[in-house]
Amino acid sequence: MADYKLTLAHLYGDLMNTYGDYGNIIALRYYAKQIGVEIDDQLVSLNDDFDPKAYDFVLFGGGQDYEETIVANDLAGKKEGLKEYIENDGPLLAVCGGFQLLGHYMEMADGSKVDGIGVMDHYTTNMTDPSVKVAKGTRLTGDIVIKNNETGETYHGFENHQGRTFLGKGEKALGTVVSGRGNNGMDQSEGVIYHNVYGSYFHGPIFTRNGNLAKRVLATALERKYPDVDWQAKLEKVPAETF
Ligand code: GLN
Repeated sequence: MADYKLTLAHLYGDLMNTYGDYGNIIALRYYAKQIGVEIDDQLVSLNDDFDPKAYDFVLFGGGQDYEETIVANDLAGKKEGLKEYIENDGPLLAVCGGFQLLGHYMEMADGSKVDGIGVMDHYTTNMTDPSVKVAKGTRLTGDIVIKNNETGETYHGFENHQGRTFLGKGEKALGTVVSGRGNNGMDQSEGVIYHNVYGSYFHGPIFTRNGNLAKRVLATALERKYPDVDWQAKLEKVPAETF
């Protein structure tokens, strides 16, 4: 039995798991185990309640337009719980479709518009700026490198999305694009940080390739639940891997 435990909600893990987003949980567990922390992940899917007080971490992965539409309908019922969780600094990783649905809306490849829950201020469009001469419907796909200028950390990933996301009030980018396309192919932003929500278009999954980020987010979750322990000191002894 581990001395400490984090309970993790995997939001719609049965519908939103593009390119193995579940690997983010495996990566968290890998680091957690080395510092005596157990991670219990629970699927929270269609028709389930989301209790904001029951979880120490939330993963909301990516999905295709079809799955996103199904999830969007159900997500409205979880809006208040998620809003409370986020505003109370609950740590959350949202990838691609999950990132999109936390914002106001997303426009799909076929032009139809799906409402997000608007607990964050970004929106996602399928329109591209004619000034950059990217045809409507072009996907933003390929390897990507970004840098977070506050921490100096560099993150590597793979992006594959049609939606173009524009950040809003109170939202900072996870990083500035060094190479690749990012949130929208225009403003050099990639992903988001809002309270303790980390959003990104990186699949593959982001925590396995970026152990520095996995450790950072794990520390945030642990400090929130067990503030009397020096988690930074414990995690410093664990090397950040790049699998
Ligand atoms: N359907 C969305 C898009 O292409 C999300 C894709 C994904 O989650 N990989 O923008």
